[in-house]
Amino acid sequence: MSKNIERCSFCGKPKKECNILVAGLNAFICDKCIEQANIIIKDEVDYKSTKKFSDFKIFKPLEIKKYLDQYVIGQDQAKKILSVAVYNHYKRITHPSDKLEDVEIEKSNIIIAGETGTGKTLLARTIAKMLNVPFCIADATVLTEAGYVGEDVESILSKLLQAADYDVKAAERGIIFIDEIDKIARKNDNPSITRDVSGEGVQQALLKLVEGAIINVPPQGGRKHPEQKMIQVNTKNILFISGGAFNNINKIIGGRLQTNMIGFNYDKEKEDIDKSNMLQYVSPQDFRAFGLIPEIVGRFPVVTYLNPLDKDILKRILTEPKNSLIKQYTKLFEIDGVKLSFDNDVLDFIVDKSIEFKLGARGLRSIIESIMTDAMFDLPSDKSVKKLHITLNYTKQKFRETTMLKHKVA
Ligand code: ADP
Repeated sequence: MSKNIERCSFCGKPKKECNILVAGLNAFICDKCIEQANIIIKDEVDYKSTKKFSDFKIFKPLEIKKYLDQYVIGQDQAKKILSVAVYNHYKRITHPSDKLEDVEIEKSNIIIAGETGTGKTLLARTIAKMLNVPFCIADATVLTEAGYVGEDVESILSKLLQAADYDVKAAERGIIFIDEIDKIARKNDNPSITRDVSGEGVQQALLKLVEGAIINVPPQGGRKHPEQKMIQVNTKNILFISGGAFNNINKIIGGRLQTNMIGFNYDKEKEDIDKSNMLQYVSPQDFRAFGLIPEIVGRFPVVTYLNPLDKDILKRILTEPKNSLIKQYTKLFEIDGVKLSFDNDVLDFIVDKSIEFKLGARGLRSIIESIMTDAMFDLPSDKSVKKLHITLNYTKQKFRETTMLKHKVA
């Protein structure tokens, strides 16, 4: 290479082959390399902003509720209570404590009671998505006290750290969803005399996390190894949302309401109670009677419930959410150049089967899958098909051929 020819210091192209060659102190760069560099910078910035939870922003309760409405159908009362709790929680984090003077605002951890598949996890996950904070799900049933077989409660924080890409600051304002908290209730209302490894012991261990403490977390999860370098995580500002079906809590709620009502308005109030959905009256004392220790109940001051999903709601779940199943399938076919549509009574059929098989909202997916599998197998190889309309007859025929019915008979 001749020294006196001016050329791009990045790609080596001589000046006469470049549109523009920009001169620096001891180097040149051509227009093509500038373009390339721009693409690299843009990719890097995009990656950082999606990956790094950098643009955390606080939203007003109304905005949170509106966002939830796009993904979660119904459950208005729970959405409202969650929106307020989440707003207050993050307000508390974003306001430096000196501004709050001597008023210490407590955390708004939330407990949601509702049958399985009614949207507890979906609500928690959607809130985390909106706020762009790390999120993880912990299954309370696999947790044990330190030293017993199972997972230590610290493993929950390992999961959160992983979700946060090991950005400790982001993890410290994350959301942890504790699923099936009802399964670690103690078996009766009396404090245990013998050690209760799976129930009260786990609640005690969990309490430390929920109360707010600096916890040494093994980075890879699992058991602590002395040689592993621990990461310190402060749980003070982590929002805990726990959920459970609390089977038979209805009886506890009913019993409490009966006792409270002995008085002047007895008959009137008794009439006002909606016995078909007792969960709507759930209160912290019911969780205590169910077997959660008072300290845990005290640390989850926000209590709400989810309604069971009826036929109407299930049908709306099929079509309305931003990423509803029908929209997802339509998109999948669209990618192959096929316009997919359904008869309205196909949707009713899917919902009815989900109810019949007691599968709830989770079942909708497997039922549609069983109906659509053949079409999804054949159409990508058949370029002549541009439209697919699913009728009730087709649906019934495909459904008959699936293994779901066989399971039912068995
Ligand atoms: P839970 O945590 O209460 O057991 P999930 O939140 O995991 O239930 O819900 C299971 C699935 O059912 C979700 O992924 C979602 O697709 C669907 N689903 C349940 N309830 C709703 C709802 N109210 N709106 C939209 N989808 C729902």
